[in-house]
Amino acid sequence: MRIAASLIFASAVSLGVTGAAWSQTPATKSMAPAAAAAPAPAAAPAVAKAPCANPDALGIGRVVEIDTTGGPGFGFEHFKQLDFLRDKEIVLTFDDGPWPLNTPSVLKTLAEECTTGVFFPIGKHATYYPEVLKQVAAAGHTIGSHTWSHATLTNKKLTEDQRKEEIEKGFSAVKWALGASPSPFFRFPALQHPPEMVTYLGTRNVAMFSCDLDSFDFKARNPQQVIDVTMKKLDKLGKGIILMHDFHKHTAEALPALLRKLKAGGYKVVQMKAKAPVETIARYDEEVLKDAKLPTVSSRPVSSVVQTISE
Ligand SMILES: [Zn+2]
Repeated sequence: MRIAASLIFASAVSLGVTGAAWSQTPATKSMAPAAAAAPAPAAAPAVAKAPCANPDALGIGRVVEIDTTGGPGFGFEHFKQLDFLRDKEIVLTFDDGPWPLNTPSVLKTLAEECTTGVFFPIGKHATYYPEVLKQVAAAGHTIGSHTWSHATLTNKKLTEDQRKEEIEKGFSAVKWALGASPSPFFRFPALQHPPEMVTYLGTRNVAMFSCDLDSFDFKARNPQQVIDVTMKKLDKLGKGIILMHDFHKHTAEALPALLRKLKAGGYKVVQMKAKAPVETIARYDEEVLKDAKLPTVSSRPVSSVVQTISE
């Protein structure tokens, strides 16, 4: 969306030597509102991953780091300035999770193929299933946000404040679930882009993701349709950011065969990482805790919680 956005291309790296784009702190359900103003957790040392056990895996062809200053836009369906993918390069993206069974199934397939994707979880879903979202992070995938409740932000009934709240609470909810800030990567529900929110995200230094091709997996009647639609569009375009949904059963079921076809077709997965995590706004961090009735940390001193009764 903005030319000021710069892309820094890292050289291709093999799986096993890359660290996570951002750290994941130990599982916690107890982020106190006061913690919102605290700086983002420092990056943890890169966790050495097991080498890829599948010699014929799809793998990761290239890793790119995105400077989200000014809110760059990706995906030619809406943003045409940043044409960074080379021929036969693809980015796998997954919306609407985290969700039981389907998201873990997608993770299993990605792990088997030693490859990766960008996940755009719904804030409310993140509060329902934080453990599932933590699995996404633990596997090293990039995580952004897809609003708090999947409201269509072009809906004229929403005020500007309500639209901003949808965006901000989405990020705050993902941060709560992970115990660490996600990437400043955002996808508008239904790919509906109200111009004033595109401008707003620019001021927040959040990158926006449309897509180059929509798998239409949410319309598919079976897994084969997901594969057929995706491959047909991809073979026509030759590259692109692919929109899928880890929320959907057909997508989870289609993914093993789809990734095999991508490999056979000579496609290479590009991993997109953010240069820095998103900075959430304390007020929305607090609203997530309040609205979702999430547990907050106890402020009682340890001596009032734990007492030795026999030794
Ligand atoms: Zn969605």
